[in-house]
Amino acid sequence: MLICSQCATQYPETQPRWRCGCGGYLILHAPGMFTRKSLSGRPKSLWRYREALGLRDAANTVTLGEGFSPLVDGCGNGTLLLKLDFLCPTGSYKDRGSTVMLSKLKEWGVSEVIEDSSGNAGASIAAYAALAGIRAKVFVPASTSAGKAAQIGMYGAELVKVSGSREDTTAAAVHAARDGFYASHNWSPYFLAGMKTAAYELAEQLDWKAPDWVVVPVGGGGLLVGMYLGFKDLVSAAFVDRVPRFAAVQASACDPVYRAWRDGFEDVPAIHKGQTAAEGISVAKPVRGAAILQAIRDSDGIVTTVEDDEVWTALAKLGGQGIYVEPTAAAAPAALRRLHEDGTIGAAEQVVVMLTGSGLKATDKIVEHQSAEAISYA
Ligand SMILES: *Cc1c(COP(=O)(O)O)cnc(C)c1O
Ligand SMILES: [Zn+2]
Repeated sequence: MLICSQCATQYPETQPRWRCGCGGYLILHAPGMFTRKSLSGRPKSLWRYREALGLRDAANTVTLGEGFSPLVDGCGNGTLLLKLDFLCPTGSYKDRGSTVMLSKLKEWGVSEVIEDSSGNAGASIAAYAALAGIRAKVFVPASTSAGKAAQIGMYGAELVKVSGSREDTTAAAVHAARDGFYASHNWSPYFLAGMKTAAYELAEQLDWKAPDWVVVPVGGGGLLVGMYLGFKDLVSAAFVDRVPRFAAVQASACDPVYRAWRDGFEDVPAIHKGQTAAEGISVAKPVRGAAILQAIRDSDGIVTTVEDDEVWTALAKLGGQGIYVEPTAAAAPAALRRLHEDGTIGAAEQVVVMLTGSGLKATDKIVEHQSAEAISYA
């Protein structure tokens, strides 16, 4: 059952639909949960949690073996764990959502999808659409990293570059979606279901325990809300004893969630945003604002912001540990440094940092930054 978040209208899961007639986003109600015992012997992919993903017909599964990314010790004593989710098939954690959403779209018999993205979701959806035999048209802002645009084209999708803001890109895609299915990662309840697997997997890798904190970059909030819901499922099933505290990280140039949280709002109003190197979290108004705030408050979490120079410093520090991520992904570890310094997170607490996108995605932006630095030091 798909239920509207605004007016509670119910829709069957058997027909393609991306939002309610009233404009609200849809929530997937598909009761089902794997058992811990049933996992043994299943493949190390997120489809081992199939029962919780709301898709019963395995015949339409569109998969590249995503999930089960390494969880590595980032400090030598187990208090800081880095989840290398950028090692998913297309180089970002968005594959968790795409594999589930495209499987559902294949089941629905959809033949063409429209998506808009700052790049990673577009690349991910283009890849899984290719695999599913579904045509994809992907709208990106003209400023998107050239690497992401090239990747989208290589998967065979039609790429449409839109000048103006990220929001102008969305408007162009919604307009075009009158002739195709708007398979937006920010709206799809199936894409969100895929995000829950990051929580299941983390708990399984920690031998069915929740860490004290999970630090996540937040743009549309899919990863944060999905992981929160995933941990709620695990608590309901008594697989873990609590939901971790979430530290949501935004760029200070684009921080609508931070402002709404700070001011005690119930939903997230749009803001006028500035430029940031963290293009993947540059979202002026997330679709699921209220759900984001609820996940943070209910988990006793916090929202914090980082400056671009902190992002670049964190990126270089990760490089020194053999880890190459894109600037957006470095926002989370950049924030952690400050949260440790100001005592929000204690030194003995166990923290998992989600590393969301590969550095290879943003080579052009990284090269630009390196040459600007070389000039300023000359
Ligand atoms: C999309 C993206 C994010 C933000 O995720 P949301 O689910 O939109 O909050 C963070 N990092 C990278 C690399 C991304 O591509
Ligand atoms: Zn509605």
